[in-house]
Amino acid sequence: MTEVQTYLYELKIKLEQNYAHQPEFMQAVDEFLGTVAPFLEKNPQYVANNLLELLVIPERIIEFRVPWQADTGDWKVNTGFRVQYNSALGPYKGGLRFHPTVNQSIVKFLGFEQIFKNSLTQLPIGGGKGGSDFDPKGKSNAEIMRFCQSFMQELQKYIGPNQDVPAGDIGVGGREIGYLFGEYKRLNSYQAGVLTGKPLAFWGSLARTEATGYGLVYFVKHLLADINETLQNKKVIVSGSGNVAIYAIEKAQALGAKVIGCSDSSGYIIDNEGIDLATVKEIKEVKRGRINEYLTIHPHAQFFEGQNIWETHEKYEIALPCATQNEISAEQAQNMIAQGVKIVAEGANMPTTLTAVTILKENQVIYCPGKAANAGGVSVSGLEMSQNSQRLPWTFEEVDEKLDEIMENIYKKCRDTANEYSTPMDLMAGANIAGFERVALAMTLQGLV
Ligand code: GLU
Repeated sequence: MTEVQTYLYELKIKLEQNYAHQPEFMQAVDEFLGTVAPFLEKNPQYVANNLLELLVIPERIIEFRVPWQADTGDWKVNTGFRVQYNSALGPYKGGLRFHPTVNQSIVKFLGFEQIFKNSLTQLPIGGGKGGSDFDPKGKSNAEIMRFCQSFMQELQKYIGPNQDVPAGDIGVGGREIGYLFGEYKRLNSYQAGVLTGKPLAFWGSLARTEATGYGLVYFVKHLLADINETLQNKKVIVSGSGNVAIYAIEKAQALGAKVIGCSDSSGYIIDNEGIDLATVKEIKEVKRGRINEYLTIHPHAQFFEGQNIWETHEKYEIALPCATQNEISAEQAQNMIAQGVKIVAEGANMPTTLTAVTILKENQVIYCPGKAANAGGVSVSGLEMSQNSQRLPWTFEEVDEKLDEIMENIYKKCRDTANEYSTPMDLMAGANIAGFERVALAMTLQGLV
């Protein structure tokens, strides 16, 4: 073993001893450590400085009680989190997730990935993440508001436009950001840049709602352009039907692709005539309903209750997993290959398990990791921060054009870094190394802090 390999091996053992009880966090770290050796061989100073151990330990984790009152009058309590992971490149930046699965392992994996994602955007933002195990499903608007206010009562002590700038993630959209912002303002002052993903009614950025989904499709567009192809007539399956999925479908369709399936936690739908996005938007954005309601308007479509969309027997070329972490297992990856998938581009964070990634790569499927492919959301968050500082809103076209440009740069950076340090089109290695390179240099220049 080389010195680098020994270093990485010993670090991995140490982390496994300390964090075996945090499987999602260990999964994200393992994926990263498994790709960076060639870069470290050329940059031994980072091993000498033990930079990787510094990097995997968050600068700070805040965990707090969130008491709130249900409409029934009952007293409820949830746990809130904010992991302020790395501030070498700028204020901590990353979303808040409200979902019953949220725990320290989940926010740490998300925060760890966010460091490299944010670095890849080339914007001046560090990495962070947060959320709560609060389940917004079935809650009234008043309950959502009270929960957000209570959450912010505590979080406001730790955030600010130059300190830490949260945004949305699963379960946190414009409505929640609005309530969180209102409470922050009441307790502090009007600091527009303290949160991003704000509603357009006050200081939000045009194209932020669309950004993650659009950015994902732009990433795929630039990848296809490299092999003289386009999205025209490509068959696509998208998992999920939330914010990322909806705008991925919209942009894929606009570029000529045929999207035949999408899903939610209750099951998935297949519409061989092409998903009617207006119906999905009505169900999800307006009614906050379930995906099987699609069949009441489009009875020719099929609904597969309780099943995972990646088990479908439909043929398609491009998979856009936009639901949640670990939605693609090894078996599902095998099935995707059997259905003809050529590109898997992640709109969600870590939707593909590590064994599934290996299977996809072994079968020459081009795998685009979320930290690169879904960076469009946080990119436009960065642009929202710029507009807020300037006190000047940009047009939709201006923001959208910048987003496309950022996604092209990220794709090319990952491709070129893979060529330099790994095998061609190993975009996972490319994303990890390119993301790490900027952070590692900044950390080194700032000394041991
Ligand atoms: N939650 C999103 C992500 O995973 C967006 C974060 C942000 O805009 O700060 O990147």
